[in-house]
Amino acid sequence: MATESRQRQKPASERFCTYCEHTGIVHEPGFEVMGEVPLSPCPRCVIPSCKCGGESPYFYYDNGEIRDCACRSVRARIDRINAIYARSGIDKKYRWRFFDSYDSIHKLASDAKNTAYDLVKKFPNVKKGLFLWGNPGTGKTLLSSIILTELILRHAVEGRFIKISRTFFNRLRATFNAESETYGEANRIERELAEVDVLVVDDFGVQRDSPWEAETLYNLVDARYEAEKFTIFTSNNNPFKTLKELSGGRILSRLKEMCSIVEVSGPDYRDRL
Ligand SMILES: [Zn+2]
Ligand SMILES: [Zn+2]
Repeated sequence: MATESRQRQKPASERFCTYCEHTGIVHEPGFEVMGEVPLSPCPRCVIPSCKCGGESPYFYYDNGEIRDCACRSVRARIDRINAIYARSGIDKKYRWRFFDSYDSIHKLASDAKNTAYDLVKKFPNVKKGLFLWGNPGTGKTLLSSIILTELILRHAVEGRFIKISRTFFNRLRATFNAESETYGEANRIERELAEVDVLVVDDFGVQRDSPWEAETLYNLVDARYEAEKFTIFTSNNNPFKTLKELSGGRILSRLKEMCSIVEVSGPDYRDRL
């Protein structure tokens, strides 16, 4: 695309304005409530030069010739972000939430928010992911969803959100059952979770009484570690205590290398909602 390659020569900071934080895209809160896509081209730096009226495939006619509209790369990026977001697995309740919806109601929460914000700003030049732990109700799921949303929005990276629960293991276990619809897909699912650019593992905890579950989680941690992939964990337990002796301390030592371990214990966040 001639127009696109010409635009690529200019850095985003020159092409786009501060209003859209140099992304060309703005988020309109409330849009998803109406079942609409909450992202749109920036009304200040993109829309003024749009001549296609937002009609796909974003061309316009100039003296009988077809030309790419100036909005084309931005709209194509929005389409891509929406497709990635739709398959991210982020819970409906936490979709399209940003840092302003996370109240730092105490010191630890505020520190965690700052660490998360820092990661988002520096990504992909970050060495470590994040392991957020603390008692239930301290907003860890919300904060990890916010990080994933920000990364998908800013970088259009593939991201997945998985919650470690009975359902998660049951689904995985079903892939070994010849009568299940997902029979034989364990490898595909495991590979996908190992390779996706950003993974959030919500409610990470290892059941000592289920060796298969423990091994599944260990393999996941191991695969992410080996592939040096950015991973965010949340857990209700102190990893230094609960994971210390697991697999001879290997899970904990992997996690310590992969992630900054941040405590967010505090008053129950949900009481304020
Ligand atoms: Zn703008
Ligand atoms: Zn246009």
